[in-house]
Amino acid sequence: MKLQFQGHDYQYAVEQSLLALFPQERPLYDPIAPEDRSWAQVSLIQEGPVWTARTLLRHGEKEAEGVSGETIPEDCGVYEAEREKQKIVKLSFFQAARAVTGVTPPWGALTGIRPGKLAARFLEEGRSEQETDRILRDTYFVSPQRRRMCIETARQGLSAAAALSPRDIALYIGIPFCPTRCAYCSFVSNSVEKSFALVEPYLQSLLSEVRSAGEMAARLGLRVRAFYMGGGTPTTLTAEQMDRLLTEVERSFDLSGCLEITIEAGRPDTISPEKLGVLKAHGTTRVSVNPQTMEDRVLQAIGRRHSAEDILRAMEDVRAARFDHVNMDLIAGLPEDSAEGFCRTLNTVLTLGADNITVHTLSLKKGSRITLENRAIPSPEEVGRMLDYSIDRLRNAGLAPYYLYRQKYMSGSFENTGWCVPGAEGLYNIYIMEELCSILSLGAGGSTKMVDARRGRIERVFNLKYPKEYIERPEKIQANQAAFAAFYGGAGECSAR
Ligand code: SF4
Repeated sequence: MKLQFQGHDYQYAVEQSLLALFPQERPLYDPIAPEDRSWAQVSLIQEGPVWTARTLLRHGEKEAEGVSGETIPEDCGVYEAEREKQKIVKLSFFQAARAVTGVTPPWGALTGIRPGKLAARFLEEGRSEQETDRILRDTYFVSPQRRRMCIETARQGLSAAAALSPRDIALYIGIPFCPTRCAYCSFVSNSVEKSFALVEPYLQSLLSEVRSAGEMAARLGLRVRAFYMGGGTPTTLTAEQMDRLLTEVERSFDLSGCLEITIEAGRPDTISPEKLGVLKAHGTTRVSVNPQTMEDRVLQAIGRRHSAEDILRAMEDVRAARFDHVNMDLIAGLPEDSAEGFCRTLNTVLTLGADNITVHTLSLKKGSRITLENRAIPSPEEVGRMLDYSIDRLRNAGLAPYYLYRQKYMSGSFENTGWCVPGAEGLYNIYIMEELCSILSLGAGGSTKMVDARRGRIERVFNLKYPKEYIERPEKIQANQAAFAAFYGGAGECSAR
């Protein structure tokens, strides 16, 4: 769709709306010609304190106009004023798009990754849940189900935030190896078969990073509230390697204030009673087993080398190890899946003893095999049926949503939602999604986020992506740690107070 702006340059805001409302279209900036059948002219004008955004949009044979306005007082801060202007630009685009397509997406005019943040802001400003619900309905056209989920997850974020102190952080460790690469994955994970020789040197580098990061955290007076090990698949490490790693974490970090330890045991073909025993012995409170589907056809289509039967067996071992909490991840919209298949999967998973179930929507990531090979996937309508079923089914089973987020190129512009029985919330997930505290990430591909929640300041540094370069260039780790320490005022003054 050709886009033309007047009086503003909110390219990102308009492109996000375009992606959500016309997923097949991509933005173009060539001049609009009379014969063009897909374009939008988006203007923004000011009359005194009143700003008006107007979108004239053509799609096929239909043309429509959307108008949205806001009074922005002169004494309004720059950040706030920008936010309001972008909001009305998006709303005008949304209204015009809705008029030509006749479709209201589940998240209405909301395009951001974290819809809960908007609801949290309203609640923090003292608005009631009813008022917040009304704004989400009347201004943003969010569906009833999504409004409810949005407010519930916002409440979880606010209560997690209230329990955090300025020097509280979460610790993340990444193990970028998997048995095989899943078809939907664009993550920098190396298949263990191909990179077996790298696992031990990687672990050596990681142990050294754990030691220096632990010293830094102690020097800065930081308290680890949640520790999460993900990947990749951490349980590709042997029991002995995992034991060495967790022993080093305990030696290097003071985990006495740590409220949870989560280890992803994502692939059932990497789980053994021996490894689970090591996790348990090191105080792991939650394991996450991520089958994504219980349909053998779908498992095969996504490149897994295990069957649904293997997942059932692995879950027996997990139950026998008696962790406080167990999470299982599912994906709606995988190749070869159907609404019926997804419902069967969910119903089976609900019998396996998990108190957390995360329902993802397939996101078409650029480097994934599904995208590269242009594989057939269920339609957005079918994915919608899967998610509708999951929402009702999980609520009926006594679970509630506690965090949610959206991603670019997500099938049907839906969401990923973490559900749990009350009291089983994974704090790390809330911290990272709501950006409540710093996440100190160790290992290849990790991204360290430095958050000063009180000042609304967020900075990021990234570890080297690939295990080989991570091993060969330890100076990058030192540079990242220096940036992290500087964010907290180095060894002396505290900036995140
Ligand atoms: S298990 Fe996760 S990280 Fe590993 S290949 Fe599959 S999606 Fe990627």
